[in-house]
Amino acid sequence: IKTVGVLTSGGDAPGMNAAIRAVVREALAKGLSVKGIKRGYAGLLQEEIVDMDARSVSDIIERGGTILQTARCKEFTTSEGQKKGADICKKHGIDGVIVIGGDGSFQGAQKLAALGINTIGLPGTIDLDIACTDYTIGFDTAVNTAMEAIDKVRDTSTSHERCSIIEVMGRGAGYIALWCGIANGAEDILLPEKYDYDEQKLIDNIIACRKRGKQHHIIINAEGIGHSTSMARRIEEATGIETRATILGHMQRGGSPTCKDRVYASTMGCYAVDLLCQGKSNRVVAYRNGEFVDYDIDEALAMKKSIPEYQYEICRNLSI
Ligand code: ATP
Repeated sequence: IKTVGVLTSGGDAPGMNAAIRAVVREALAKGLSVKGIKRGYAGLLQEEIVDMDARSVSDIIERGGTILQTARCKEFTTSEGQKKGADICKKHGIDGVIVIGGDGSFQGAQKLAALGINTIGLPGTIDLDIACTDYTIGFDTAVNTAMEAIDKVRDTSTSHERCSIIEVMGRGAGYIALWCGIANGAEDILLPEKYDYDEQKLIDNIIACRKRGKQHHIIINAEGIGHSTSMARRIEEATGIETRATILGHMQRGGSPTCKDRVYASTMGCYAVDLLCQGKSNRVVAYRNGEFVDYDIDEALAMKKSIPEYQYEICRNLSI
């Protein structure tokens, strides 16, 4: 390996910059050249490729988003697009590519690896929905941002004795909702993996909580269930309790990464470069059972992950 390319793909996540910085500096320390590929696979196909040196990544570890920007690219899902991408890498002398993104981005990396470009994936998503790893870059920052916002909604909810439905991100996964549900002491937590769409049960619980003297009722609803505004309307009608929906939205993706995201993303960035230096390809870096490890991408994509049962089960008792 002589030249490493790095790109961010799919949704952005705080900590991606820390990972980019680590890739660049670890590669330089190992005597390699580094090229930044802008806007994910879309930028690769447009040859938006820039040389990176140690100063290109100064002052970014504390910044949210990704300095390389990110995109989704349909063309790269076709075999012609993938061949074009591999040819562009070869033209620019890039013999290893580090892809920071989610499962979709790893599938792209898998295709590049099959075309002779060494690739390593880093799990970058706020959603925590990558099966092979207990940690993804950006999740910690996103849950902390959401938690602080929910605290604020809770204050006003208590003052007005309201019911609040707060919708958090996570796409099809409920990890952000579960963590915020526990961290914010929500009375109800609705996860796409678990919710049975029985609104009467929710309504009964709101009424029962009121009878027990609760001054507010916080429902954390996951993006994968959605429809928070109409749900609020129906709950207000059924209970007579003022009910408001707050959709936290994109604020959860931004902001300065937490210490954990900076440290883990930095470690993973270096780990990815080290794998390339060992001649490895088609691997994804993961954090599992307290250790940084790596898996074959095919194996990683075949893994399944589910909501931790115990943590889900304790929620009801914690909000009694
Ligand atoms: P997030 O979790 O934030 O959604 P992601 O990486 O899963 O991240 P996707 O939109 O699924 O996001 O994928 C990002 C990009 O990866 C796609 O726009 C596409 O260019 C590429 N990609 C996705 N699936 C494939 C595939 N099967 N083959 C080749 N490339 C793919």
